[in-house]
Amino acid sequence: MPLVTLTTFRTAQDAHLAKAVLEDEGVPAFLGDENVSSIAPYVVPNGVRLQVAADDFDRAEGILNRIAGMDVAEKSTASAERAIRHPEQCPRCGSPDIRRTRRLLGFSIAAALLFAVGVAVDQLVMTFYLAMAICIFFLVASPFRCANCGHRW
Ligand SMILES: [Zn+2]
Repeated sequence: MPLVTLTTFRTAQDAHLAKAVLEDEGVPAFLGDENVSSIAPYVVPNGVRLQVAADDFDRAEGILNRIAGMDVAEKSTASAERAIRHPEQCPRCGSPDIRRTRRLLGFSIAAALLFAVGVAVDQLVMTFYLAMAICIFFLVASPFRCANCGHRW
């Protein structure tokens, strides 16, 4: 089965991300330049080709389009790449510069501080309930933040 190039990514990181998405959907995908080191976010001079079997092309393209929310076939590689990394635009100002908030990191820091205080004041039961409350807070916290206008949703 001949391989055909689905699209080309500017960085190995994005190519690996798209490959993982396709394989998650059951479409075997191959990177044209396997010597490209793992998930380093370096810009690869000639780009990294994402290839699939010719028979899988339409399906793979459909999956990437669905993920990217745009037509990869139009060869708008840079915007497809950006759309995969940032699947949404800011609903307030339309900026594509969206950051995912680091909920796990925030929770880890808050929990670590809380337990340090809890041990210091010998109130571990109360600390436990507070940790649960903080956990729920982080779970319902907005996952996206606009880097342009600061809007969260
Ligand atoms: Zn915004």
